[in-house]
Amino acid sequence: MKKAIYPGSFDPITFGHLDIIERSARLFDEVVVGVLANSAKSALFSTAERVNMIQELVAKYPNVTVDSFDGLLVDYARQIDAQIIIRGLRAVTDFEYELQIAQTNRVEYPALDTVFLTTSLNYSYLSSTIVREFASYGGDISRFVPQEIIPLIEAKYQRGQ
Ligand code: ADP
Repeated sequence: MKKAIYPGSFDPITFGHLDIIERSARLFDEVVVGVLANSAKSALFSTAERVNMIQELVAKYPNVTVDSFDGLLVDYARQIDAQIIIRGLRAVTDFEYELQIAQTNRVEYPALDTVFLTTSLNYSYLSSTIVREFASYGGDISRFVPQEIIPLIEAKYQRGQ
């Protein structure tokens, strides 16, 4: 059984993330989407909100589950007995950082391997930051995130107006 974890902030989840999840679900027996709870960045959505949103969107994949974790990814991977970390690569700029993290993780937990999936071309520009930026100015985010979560994102920026 090949169990993989796809970790990230997912604040919010985008079509780029969902594309990686769909492709991973075909490659591995079990995929756990791990929402990082202790992100240093001040998050738009709470951990529970992010987990709930993703759960709804991945319900169609029987081998994908969603969980949250804090602390070191290697510790969490060991705890749930995952042998593979999945990361998405968008551009060369992602590469150096990702390589360093992957190598560090393998030193910490040698049985763990990182698999990189290259982004689909049409999502190569897409990041959660772009989505937040667009939404904050009332831009159209329908090309970036699924319809179901648009009202949740927009609601975050309507408060206090
Ligand atoms: P982090 O905060 O750890 O960078 P993110 O939530 O931004 O996490 O992304 C999680 C993972 O998804 C990362 O490996 C990132 O490279 C990948 N990813 C993000 N956006 C895309 C995209 N548009 N296409 C492919 N992979 C992506």
